[in-house]
Amino acid sequence: MQNEKAGLYIHIPFCQSKCAYCNFYSITSVNLMPQFVAGLVNEIKLYQRQFDAFDTVYIGGGTPSLLSSGQLSDILSTINKFHKLDKETEITMEVNPGDVSVEYFKSLLSLGINRLNIGVQSFDDKILRFLGRRHSANEARQAIRHARAAGFKNLGIDLIYGVYGQSINLWKKTLAQALPFRPEHLSCYELTLEASAPLYKRYLEKKIKKLNEKQQKKFFFTTAEELGKAGYIHYEVSNFARKNNFKSRHNMKYWRHTPYLGLGPAAHSFFKNRRWWNVKSVKDYLNNVPQGISPVESEEILTAEQLKLETLFLALRTKDGIDLRAYQKRFRTDLLEEKKMVIESLINSKLLELKKGFLRPTLAGMAVADSLALI
Ligand code: SF4
Repeated sequence: MQNEKAGLYIHIPFCQSKCAYCNFYSITSVNLMPQFVAGLVNEIKLYQRQFDAFDTVYIGGGTPSLLSSGQLSDILSTINKFHKLDKETEITMEVNPGDVSVEYFKSLLSLGINRLNIGVQSFDDKILRFLGRRHSANEARQAIRHARAAGFKNLGIDLIYGVYGQSINLWKKTLAQALPFRPEHLSCYELTLEASAPLYKRYLEKKIKKLNEKQQKKFFFTTAEELGKAGYIHYEVSNFARKNNFKSRHNMKYWRHTPYLGLGPAAHSFFKNRRWWNVKSVKDYLNNVPQGISPVESEEILTAEQLKLETLFLALRTKDGIDLRAYQKRFRTDLLEEKKMVIESLINSKLLELKKGFLRPTLAGMAVADSLALI
């Protein structure tokens, strides 16, 4: 929705070590962090007056919890000084369980951060070791307790399923260990083996296997069932909220095609029909921003056809689906007419449904959301 307020994403490109499955951009030498924060502050200033206002801020990475509260304060105070933030702005930060204490969490709250995403990934130490995480299950539990003790009332937990050697029962145990913390939000991602991730090499060497389609569906439906029983709203393929107001407002912007500004190395931005992205390496980034030079590497202008396809791809990942009236208004075309035959066939196969002016995926449709988008 182009008329909604934009979201602001900040990419912190540092990690203490690389996880075996990771394909996000980050580096493990943290000595450039002070220069990076100074550079980021400059980049925040570069966009002054280019966006009306933001009502979500998401500090992701990488590992943002490697930043000190002083560095976070520099970043957030610059955002506040040079941009308009709504009073009710959702400010989320990703944290790694090994880095945090009650005092650190309290300092985050005092800076205005009101939502946390804790990268737990599993409550099983064997699985955590396999994934190359640097925290233990106990540290994960401790981090959640610390966040609650500090006063966080909007807490998200990230978990991964479909890990080689993980049975459905082991996965159910991890879910069962997450639920007593009553997290406001749960993200449950299937482990994907991207070519750039270290685990991929083990896959090529035939030391580990990927899930087959039947196993993928079993994990997906088990997750939906277990979290449904616990009262969670399954609002996107991998995302569950305890109540409507605990849905990730920032991530909803991506799925609703709302404008967003991404700052930091490798960050992407989107506005109207333009997408642009920053240089990937921290060094290249720091060759530009300290001098007040934009670190944008390149851009693309999306055609109406590309925008339509993206809208379908993103919206059909969400339980809300596509608002047909809004689609007609934006693209001046009736989606149901335009794709009549294929939509009818997907409705007959019970993968899509029409409800109150929305074209929505069913649960079976959400399980194959990536292929639905090819309509
Ligand atoms: S998964 Fe997260 S913590 Fe692990 S290396 Fe990637 S960005 Fe860093």
